[in-house]
Amino acid sequence: MNEQFDVAIVGAGPAGISAACVLAERGIKTLVLERGEYPGSKNIFGGVLYGHDLARIVPDFEDKGCPVERNILESRLWYLSGSGGYSLAYRDRIFSGDRKYNAFTTGRARFDRWFAERARERGALIVCSTVVTDLLRDGHNRVIGVKTDRPDGDVRAKIVLLADGINSPLARMTGFRPEPRPEDVALSVKEVIALPDEVIEERFGVEGGAGVTVEILGDVTWGMNGVAFIYTNKRSVSIGIGANLLHFSERRIRPYEMLEAFKQHPMVAPLIKGGKPQEYTAHWLAEGGYDSIPRLCADGCLIAGDSAMLFNALHREGTNLAMASGRMAAESAAEALASGDWSRKGLQRYVGRLQDSYVMKDMAKYRRFPHFLQSHEELFTILPGLASLAAREMLTVDGIPKKQKQAAIWRELRRKMTTPKLLRFLWEAWRSVR
Ligand SMILES: Cc1cc2nc3c(=O)[nH]c(=O)nc-3n(C[C@H](O)[C@H](O)[C@H](O)COP(=O)(O)OP(=O)(O)OC[C@H]3O[C@@H](n4cnc5c(N)ncnc54)[C@H](O)[C@@H]3O)c2cc1C
Repeated sequence: MNEQFDVAIVGAGPAGISAACVLAERGIKTLVLERGEYPGSKNIFGGVLYGHDLARIVPDFEDKGCPVERNILESRLWYLSGSGGYSLAYRDRIFSGDRKYNAFTTGRARFDRWFAERARERGALIVCSTVVTDLLRDGHNRVIGVKTDRPDGDVRAKIVLLADGINSPLARMTGFRPEPRPEDVALSVKEVIALPDEVIEERFGVEGGAGVTVEILGDVTWGMNGVAFIYTNKRSVSIGIGANLLHFSERRIRPYEMLEAFKQHPMVAPLIKGGKPQEYTAHWLAEGGYDSIPRLCADGCLIAGDSAMLFNALHREGTNLAMASGRMAAESAAEALASGDWSRKGLQRYVGRLQDSYVMKDMAKYRRFPHFLQSHEELFTILPGLASLAAREMLTVDGIPKKQKQAAIWRELRRKMTTPKLLRFLWEAWRSVR
């Protein structure tokens, strides 16, 4: 391509398209390069998107036909052992009223395509089936464009935004960040199971297009640091499970076997009974937290979204951080272009914007959380069984006095976990989320 662009964006995911919308709206000549056949064709996620950050880019997203599956009315948290588990749920009608679309489910193949159309409408050029293979640099090592796998492959741009996701060889090649360490990445597998609309509403206790999310911890991840989820779509349920990549490789566990076992769990099986498998996918997730965030800008180049390791593992927030960081990268790029300085210094406002926003504040708040999970495997090994034992015993009416049961539970806990270890666990758990 002989054309020169103001900004070239690598990746048409939530980060890249958010940036393209903001830039194109300001009349900035913007190109998005996407390796997939169409935006979203290669992308998977659990399924929950957040209205707040989307509305900052497309305020009337509902009227514009955003492909919403279900508006989330209730969030459940489960802590499971092999035979049972605890369920904590929060439902609030505010989420179908004033805060409708706070969170909603969607599919990436449809959402990314729809979102990319909004950028096209504003004037961005989106070129698919094109892999960016490297960055172009001048004699002073400043980024001046990208190389692609097309025959006429080089594209010149004043600024390049890397929004190419977690598995970004470009971020590595260009020195932004090293290959993520296996302990900073989770491998997640997901299956979409088709069920009739009314069956989903009956089983999850919702109506009128409302939906439920279930986040799950416990020994379902076979002692590995990981989570599972169940999300309701219109006519299907997404069910997934993931764990630390290091643990998977050390323990030689096959993710799909773990998913199959999870589907048989007594709290899961009734929800998906009779459903037909529709889709099966696997993907990486950025889980390193605040300490794995790379430097965010260089001369002529910025990095956003998963590529910048922006993922809040505790709250399962990634698409919103991608959209927010993409938007802020675009606002900073626009200012840099207007001032004629898109060196690292000229683009530094991006870092300031992120730091002043909830994106970095939340990443910093949960800085210790990944380490807490990595260093407390009892959360996934002995504690689910102990927690179940406590509930099971206290709920069984068998003539044994409750005080005697309590003493037996306490003895069992002390047998498996010393008091100092338990106190350390509680202290570190609190510190990791305070
Ligand atoms: C199993 C799973 C469940 C998840 N669940 C949720 C959830 O429920 N809610 C949530 O908010 N987040 C969730 N996430 C995280 C969320 O998917 C990411 O945080 C989000 O997609 C990041 O957006 P992004 O635009 O930065 O990257 P991506 O969505 O990964 O987009 C990157 C784009 O770049 C393209 N690309 C990559 N390399 C190149 C290249 N060299 N040349 C051209 N194009 C390229 C890709 O094809 C892709 O389209 C989940 C992730 C996984 C894996």
